[in-house]
Amino acid sequence: MDFKYGPDLIVFQERARCFIRKHMEPEIDYYDQKSLFPRDTFQKFGSEGFLGAAVPKQYGGQGLGTIGYCLLCEELGRLGAGAIHNGIFQTQKMILEYGTEALKQRFVPGLCSGSIHAATAISEPDMGSSFARMKTIAKRDGNFFILSGVKAHINDAAEADLINVFAKTDLGLTVFLVEKGLPGFKIKEKLDPMGLRSSPIYTLEFDDCRVPDTHVVGEEGRGLSVFVATFNFSRLGNASTFIGMAREALERAINFAKEREVGPARVSDFQGIRWMIADLYTKLEAAVLLRDKAAHTEETEREVSALSSMAKYYAGETAVETVMSAIRIVGSHGCYRDTPFERLLRDVKALEIAGGTPEIMKNIIATSILGKPGKA
Ligand SMILES: Cc1cc2nc3c(=O)[nH]c(=O)nc-3n(C[C@H](O)[C@H](O)[C@H](O)COP(=O)(O)OP(=O)(O)OC[C@H]3O[C@@H](n4cnc5c(N)ncnc54)[C@H](O)[C@@H]3O)c2cc1C
Repeated sequence: MDFKYGPDLIVFQERARCFIRKHMEPEIDYYDQKSLFPRDTFQKFGSEGFLGAAVPKQYGGQGLGTIGYCLLCEELGRLGAGAIHNGIFQTQKMILEYGTEALKQRFVPGLCSGSIHAATAISEPDMGSSFARMKTIAKRDGNFFILSGVKAHINDAAEADLINVFAKTDLGLTVFLVEKGLPGFKIKEKLDPMGLRSSPIYTLEFDDCRVPDTHVVGEEGRGLSVFVATFNFSRLGNASTFIGMAREALERAINFAKEREVGPARVSDFQGIRWMIADLYTKLEAAVLLRDKAAHTEETEREVSALSSMAKYYAGETAVETVMSAIRIVGSHGCYRDTPFERLLRDVKALEIAGGTPEIMKNIIATSILGKPGKA
């Protein structure tokens, strides 16, 4: 395994970093506080080619693979988890892996350029971690499916042009691409979340919404495979977002510690602070290595569920600890809303839950080691 990123990846990451610092960082507080999607800037970000990091060039992407997507999420993650809009990348992934050629041609270039915004709708008011209790159903009617149900906690649902919706049909879990404006689809409520606020969150409803069967991703009843492939990929984006958030918090804390004088010493001279920074740096480096190994495996082999879950779980634990410790290092300066620490703290906790909780990640890891739990 090569521990260095190639020149294409380095240039791409550097370009993304410059764009994010110049165009996104100055406005993130506004969108975070008001819980609004920064559409204009995000479309510009897409038009510069960033959203197609992992997509092959033939579909309008950059062809930089899973690690390209991870490095992009790492840079966006410096602003917090609300900056990522993972529905776009999840929708790209599932169409590329399971969609027909017609779906690829129709949607993927727009998902790369920023002209099509996308969301993922799986969770429901009574269902998050397990599909068993999913109530959203889709009944076949000729060349259509009729979709009914309520979805909860859905990022960017009102802003998206395309929503990938998980529902149960007679043949089992199935994924549908629902285009904006279809009769029977409505936004029920905008929510007021703690984190990911610049990726606004909604409850939505499907009331006999007719979706053409050409918009099924993969085969009817194969939704679990689509879910596994998509989330194995996007959990690496989550891990990278955690890494970006941890880096931002740690770098700010280190800069503060090196400058702040307390009596005859600087904060960075205190052994307690030095060891804390040494611990956090070590864990961050381990999170990056684990993420890189998982990203490499995702690209080269099919079975990556355990590694991808480890990457999200470990980077999440590291990021929560890092953001909390960074706030401790900067003292009172971390307790005000005109620094990014508060946003990072809210986002790091919310991202622990979104995309699969730490307990679910550990269940996947344990099952890969021990098999499913059962009677002796
Ligand atoms: C900020 C945010 C954004 C989100 N965005 C989206 C989105 O865009 N689209 C979407 O579909 N969903 C989204 N979600 C929903 C998210 O995927 C779910 O919240 C998550 O899967 C957990 O489900 P739950 O909240 O229903 O918790 P539950 O499943 O009810 O779990 C409650 C608690 O029980 C634990 N638990 C559950 N099952 C087990 C088990 N088998 N073993 C051990 N412990 C267990 C959990 O870890 C948790 O601690 C978002 C959530 C948040 C917080």
